Amino acid sequence: MQIDRLLYPVHSLGPGNRLVIWVRGCKKRCFNCANPELQFFNPKSEISMPIIKDTICEIGEKFDGITITGGEPFCQAKELLDLITFILKITDDILVFTGYSKDEIHELNNDDVIKCIEKAAVVIYGEYVDEHNDNYTPLVASSNQVMEIYNPKLKNKYMDYIKNGRTIENFYYNNNLISVGIHNTRRRRDENTEVDTRD
Ligand code: SF4
Repeated sequence: MQIDRLLYPVHSLGPGNRLVIWVRGCKKRCFNCANPELQFFNPKSEISMPIIKDTICEIGEKFDGITITGGEPFCQAKELLDLITFILKITDDILVFTGYSKDEIHELNNDDVIKCIEKAAVVIYGEYVDEHNDNYTPLVASSNQVMEIYNPKLKNKYMDYIKNGRTIENFYYNNNLISVGIHNTRRRRDENTEVDTRD
C-alpha cells in the first residue's frame, strides 16, 4: 500500500491521541489542497502490509483512534479494507477522509469501498472547495463536505471534539516541518475580491 507517512500522537484530526496515516494518490485536483504532494502515486512509498501492521502494533493500545487521510484512501480500497479490518482488532474509532461525495461513492460501485465505509466509525465525504472553507469547523474543511458518524457509541466523543474548533500542530518529520490539521483558507475575502495570500 502506498503510504507517505504515519504520525502519532496527533490531536488535530480527530479526538484523543490519534495515529494518523497519510496515503498517496488522489484523482481530484482541488484548489489549495492541503497535501498536493500526495496527489500522485510514488512506488517509493509502497509499504508491505505486514510492515504497516507491525508499525501500528508497536504503538499498540496507546492511541485512542486512527485517522486515515491522504491523498484519497479509496484509491487503494482493497488494501485499505485489509488495513481497516486489522485496525478494528485494536480500536473501533476509525476516521476516514475521502474526497468523494456520497453520490460519487455510489457511482464507484466498488465493494471494497462499501465494506471500508461499513467498518469505519466516521467518514468525512467530499472534495475540498476553498471558497467554502469557513475557517472554523474542525474536521470538515469546507461546508460542502459531510461528516457521518456511523458508530453511535462515538457520537458524543466527536461532538465534544467539534465544539473546540480547529487545531494545527507542527511535526518535524523526514527533515521537513509538517503542519497537520484542518487549515483555514489561504485566501482572504477583500470586499468582493478574493486575494491569494499564500507565501
Ligand atoms: S480530495 Fe483531498 S487530497 Fe484529493 S486533491 Fe482534493 S483536497 Fe487534495
